[in-house]
Amino acid sequence: KKKIGVMTSGGDAPGMNPAVRAVVRAGIFLGCDVFAVYEGYEGLVQGGDLLKKMEWGDVRSFLSLGGTNIGTARCAAFRERAGRLVAAHNMILNGIDALIVCGGDGSLTGADLFRSEWPSLIEELVSTGKLTKEEVAPYKHLTIVGLVGSIDNDMSSTDATIGAYSSLERITEMVDYIDATATSHSRAFVVEVMGRHCGWLGLMSGIATGADFIFIPERPPKAGEWQQELKDVCSRHRAKGRRKTTVIVAEGAIDSELNPISSEEVKNVLVELGLDTRITTLGHVQRGGTAVAYDRMLATLQGVDAVRAVLESTPDIPSPMIGVLENKIVRKPLVEAVKLTKSVADAIESKDFDKAMALRDSSFEE
Ligand code: ADP
Repeated sequence: KKKIGVMTSGGDAPGMNPAVRAVVRAGIFLGCDVFAVYEGYEGLVQGGDLLKKMEWGDVRSFLSLGGTNIGTARCAAFRERAGRLVAAHNMILNGIDALIVCGGDGSLTGADLFRSEWPSLIEELVSTGKLTKEEVAPYKHLTIVGLVGSIDNDMSSTDATIGAYSSLERITEMVDYIDATATSHSRAFVVEVMGRHCGWLGLMSGIATGADFIFIPERPPKAGEWQQELKDVCSRHRAKGRRKTTVIVAEGAIDSELNPISSEEVKNVLVELGLDTRITTLGHVQRGGTAVAYDRMLATLQGVDAVRAVLESTPDIPSPMIGVLENKIVRKPLVEAVKLTKSVADAIESKDFDKAMALRDSSFEE
């Protein structure tokens, strides 16, 4: 019987619970044992109570629960080979040789590294007398399948990450609330949203709320000139009769010289324009709450496909990441997707913003 571990790792995202539910139930349906690995990689390193065989009923009601009930954590030990050795040992003691990891690019990178190291880890467990040759014999290969859980929608090779639309919905709702009071008092609001290297939340919430101006990392405004541009745009909108001003600033906003643009700076520019301006940093409300229907659907379809991918895997197939492209659930090589994701950040870092945009576009091609 195939034994599969499922975990959530890195930053939490709405939809992680539905993903775990789908993996557990599809696994049971397809004749596997599914183990929940609690607290991300910490669960593999510590083993014991943090590895729990799941039954059908254990994930009841997970569809409508925000966050992740099996916990998530950042695990320093797993970054070291010694930690991964202990993790491999715990997995074999429980008969697990397949992992479905729902997390961001860090978590998925760690998972793939674990897979490539696996044969040598097993060898070491035998040579140090921790396990016998007979005990490790059935566990020659580790199967890894990635599900992308991230509110930022910051992974290449997929149109949407699990949690992004929920977060966007939350931001949109909050900006609507802010807009109501802004209009009443004829105020300006600078709303800071998440997204360190990826401006998707900033861009899409700007579109969804009709913001006056947005700041996102991929399209940095000209250093030293954006202040006047911001003033011009906002004044023009006011002149047309708009009673509120809404500016959305992504966490990772920068100017063309890579200087960070803070909400405070943006506020000061609006104050110079004579606007009564407030800052609202949305913070963790963007992560909370239940997943919107789209994320529940995405997590469920992808969770089921992740189990199928485990059952169809062979050692020569690179670890897949389950994505969605043009409304179809697809499998993409995990390492490639992570590499492409990193190359966007690198292009921004080297001020090649056109390349960054081109890379973002190319990442969606089949
Ligand atoms: P995210 O998955 O959201 O990108 P992190 O980058 O914090 O979040 O990664 C989550 C966890 O995944 C880390 O705490 C660590 O245990 C593991 N991890 C991340 N990168 C690596 C790596 N290069 N090698 C091994 N483990 C890693």
